[in-house]
Amino acid sequence: MDKRVLITGGAGFIGSHLCDLFIGKGYSVICLDNLVTGTLGNVRHLIKNKSFKFVKHDITKYITLKGKIDYVLHFASPASPVDYLKYPIKTLKVGSLGTHNTLGIAKAKKAKFMLASTSEIYGDPLVHPQKESYWGNVNPIGPRGVYDEAKRFAEAITMAYHKTHNMDTKIVRIFNTYGERMRHYDGRAVPTFLDQTLSNKPITVFGSGKQTRSFCYINDLVDGIYKLVMSGTNQPVNLGNPHEFSIMELARLIIKLTGSKSQIIFKKLPVDDPKIRKPDISLAKSKLNWEPKVTLKEGLIRTIRYFKQNGKSVYKYRYPV
Ligand code: UDP
Repeated sequence: MDKRVLITGGAGFIGSHLCDLFIGKGYSVICLDNLVTGTLGNVRHLIKNKSFKFVKHDITKYITLKGKIDYVLHFASPASPVDYLKYPIKTLKVGSLGTHNTLGIAKAKKAKFMLASTSEIYGDPLVHPQKESYWGNVNPIGPRGVYDEAKRFAEAITMAYHKTHNMDTKIVRIFNTYGERMRHYDGRAVPTFLDQTLSNKPITVFGSGKQTRSFCYINDLVDGIYKLVMSGTNQPVNLGNPHEFSIMELARLIIKLTGSKSQIIFKKLPVDDPKIRKPDISLAKSKLNWEPKVTLKEGLIRTIRYFKQNGKSVYKYRYPV
């Protein structure tokens, strides 16, 4: 196969799994990352592969790459609330300038383009479950606004390039995803609870723990992303697992699966933390014939194995802000 894919954020959690998937299917992959939140360790096993190339670059700066590119997958961005609160301006810049630059290179190379968008564009939703037709409830100047509004802008500019330049663009709205290669110190609920239980430290549940999320295992997600890239649709598509859990249920399940002695402690709920979240995936089912296969229990068992084998606890209490 002589198809070449550019993956921005390719050394990140989702990006590195996409590198594996495309290499596995016989594509050449250029992995571009500035390593602010991504790590080389995520792609170290690919470095010697002739079909794989790593380029350290900040995509908010102009991108020059030689040779043809068939697909541009734009996955670069801090994505954990802890990270986008730590890097608010970088988050805004990668979503705006970075998306502009990656659309520019896709246009120049006549490549298909995919934007990694997010369930965060729905904000603290007033509609449940969230369908793609819902416009959202976002506080533009709240702490999460830097991520939510950057991604909303990114969707707008992607659609504008599609309509103005007739480019083949895709928008994937990714709901909470977990799995191997999340960092112990990531800050998101799954890796934080795993890190805490595996070192028998208290589990930090924010607020009452009644807020809900729907957790998708990484292999299911990248399978859906591939199907969307290859599909004929240009409208945004939700990808996520529609099984909804409260954060307390998640904490209890992780305690059970790790056999940990950790106690649950309660901390202040972060500002603008969405109260409920669950994707409506009927569009993905009908357009892509996709739905997640891995249960939360099975996915957590696999992720626990990875957490036990990789890395020591470097957990620091960084929430709430
Ligand atoms: N959360 C928690 N304890 C933690 C980290 C997160 O209770 O140590 C909660 C957080 O307040 C939110 C949910 O878990 O309600 C999911 O948070 P996460 O950071 O994973 O992602 P989000 O869906 O908020 O982007």
